Amino acid sequence: MKYDMHVHINIHGDEGEMERYEYFAKMNNLEVIGFVIHYNPKISRKELRDYRDFVESLNIRAYAGLEIYHPSRYPGGFDFYLLHFSNVVVDAELLSSLRDVVIAHPFAYGMSIDASSLPIMVKNNIGVECNSAHFASSLRKFYTDIKREGICIPFGSDAHTPEEMGEGFEELSSIFSPFEEVERRILKKR
Ligand SMILES: [Zn+2]
Ligand SMILES: [Zn+2]
Repeated sequence: MKYDMHVHINIHGDEGEMERYEYFAKMNNLEVIGFVIHYNPKISRKELRDYRDFVESLNIRAYAGLEIYHPSRYPGGFDFYLLHFSNVVVDAELLSSLRDVVIAHPFAYGMSIDASSLPIMVKNNIGVECNSAHFASSLRKFYTDIKREGICIPFGSDAHTPEEMGEGFEELSSIFSPFEEVERRILKKR
């Protein structure tokens, strides 16, 4: 099943935007789309609600997620959460209070993952994204290692336009987890 769990959407987009997501989902054979917006505390409750309503009203199987920078404070009620870390070494302590979330684009934006954090990822069901926009072949060994540990690896393209949705899915399909696993482990029950 072709899916993409990292598609950025502009909550201030114009009228025709919705049709474009539906159109390109069909064009790119995508069966499931996980949308995200960059969360910051200045976004109003109304904007968050409008975003969720927009995703729900699409005529495609779609989920509403948040990409968050500060894992200590973010609103509940979304389908999934991506963690955007930058300039930090992710270790066991940093992850200890988190559960059922996904670390986006590992080793991008100056972040790295310390081996000490792997057991806590397993214990707290923290996934690590396979992000096609930030992929490098040097990451293959890392993904093989975490897959062996049983860590969930959702696919995400980091698309910022509807056309880019699903980009890199076929090329990287040997790395990431099938959607059924992502659904079971990462998506919140509603
Ligand atoms: Zn990001
Ligand atoms: Zn992103």
